[in-house]
Amino acid sequence: MSYDDLMEYDEVMERFDPVLGLEVHVELNTASKMFCSCSTGFGGEPNSQTCPVCLGLPGSLPVVNGKAVESAIRIGLALNCGIATWCRFARKNYFYPDMTKDFQTSQYDEPICFDGHVEIDVDGESFEIPIERAHMEEDAGKSLHVGGATGRIAGADYSLLDYNRAGVPLIEIVTKPVYGTGAKAPEVARAYVSFLRDMMKALGVSDVRMEQGSLRCDANVSLMPKGSTQLGTRTETKNVNSLRSIEKALRYEICRQGAILASGGRVKQETRHWLEVSGVTAPGRSKEQAEDYRYFPEPDLVPIAPSREWVEELRATIPEVPAVRYERLRGEWGYTELEMQAVIAAQGVDLIAATIEAGASPQAARKWWMSELSRQANALGVDLEELSITATQVAQVQALIDEGAINDKIARTVIDAVLAGEGEPRQIVAAKGLAVVSDSSALQEAVDAAIAEHADVADKIREGKTAAVGALIGSVMKSMKGQADASAVRELILGRLAP
Ligand SMILES: [Zn+2]
Repeated sequence: MSYDDLMEYDEVMERFDPVLGLEVHVELNTASKMFCSCSTGFGGEPNSQTCPVCLGLPGSLPVVNGKAVESAIRIGLALNCGIATWCRFARKNYFYPDMTKDFQTSQYDEPICFDGHVEIDVDGESFEIPIERAHMEEDAGKSLHVGGATGRIAGADYSLLDYNRAGVPLIEIVTKPVYGTGAKAPEVARAYVSFLRDMMKALGVSDVRMEQGSLRCDANVSLMPKGSTQLGTRTETKNVNSLRSIEKALRYEICRQGAILASGGRVKQETRHWLEVSGVTAPGRSKEQAEDYRYFPEPDLVPIAPSREWVEELRATIPEVPAVRYERLRGEWGYTELEMQAVIAAQGVDLIAATIEAGASPQAARKWWMSELSRQANALGVDLEELSITATQVAQVQALIDEGAINDKIARTVIDAVLAGEGEPRQIVAAKGLAVVSDSSALQEAVDAAIAEHADVADKIREGKTAAVGALIGSVMKSMKGQADASAVRELILGRLAP
């Protein structure tokens, strides 16, 4: 493949202002689909969760899922949107094999939620994200391209279709153009999607698992020359399925568009795909205009007219916004603002909350997730929650330390083994014989050997220079292969030598 010319990010920022537009699809966690009673379960046998309605067979009639409407309204309220007193579904017509009806049932000019806004925070700076709409629609099925090297349609021998996902309820949340983010545009986009993810989780309306596609982000960006008010041509990048990819994909697009515009070229309005492995965006189909979809009101569904009483009842169920919750947790956990900011930035809030819930102290939970595990996640290029260790397992590792069964150093070995899929912390400690030696006679022997070996150090300690004890502890730890409790060793040495 050919690579795009890129301009240095800082150089782009000197000449242009990025303008963002974010479209986020949230798959609702209703038990059944949007317009039929088929299950929405993930990972079922292909095409086992289908019926005439979601396959779009002639004569089948859809019925709206009331729970999905309720979730849509609650999402709108959480995003400070107005809720329509009356709205309809619309047919979005297109021919694509993953949508057998040849149209997607969506909403067009009558969205259920409109004109909202949310505040997000990036490094202590606040940004308002204006929300244009949040509307209801249904998901499409999935294509599987077989025989090619890349899994893409190019080069494939044939394609298989799975309609289990066809008809699963989606809420599409669309921002208005987001101005004024400057060089922080990629971070603002990430923080916004992170906010939505946390909010949807708090509302309990979706699993919001980006890696399973239940939260998907299409990131639009264009560049506006500094001092101009003329919007540039935007591109839309799809397939961005992790928070860090959102940031990386936008950064890439900004540098790519900057290079085109600076050389006097024109940015092509198109859909692009984020290629995770190569870290670039690549062109997809050219972007359809709204008129290409020939929208018209869905004749098979009655309009939705939520009563104001119902809307107010639902308003009472809206949980605290994530920022407020974070401030509350910070107080409960006794973290500094800097510590909490780092935890939020690393998406560690829920993991730490669950680790504390499982018995660890707030300080211990933060220590493991923000040091050792963050380091491992960074090395693997994944988010913390993608690591194959659970909050409960981290709490178990800490419990083993608190019981004196292992020390910090061994704990790291145990964590490595958990990450490698070798079992539960306790099993690993037992199976590998990792428990620290608490047998005092064995420790005493090692201490005496170290004292005999380093007589000069021992003499200093006898004279009251207790700072020298570190050298002896080190020697004992080495002979015990790290499987000793350093503070117990220290006490034994001082017990033998203290004047
Ligand atoms: Zn169905």
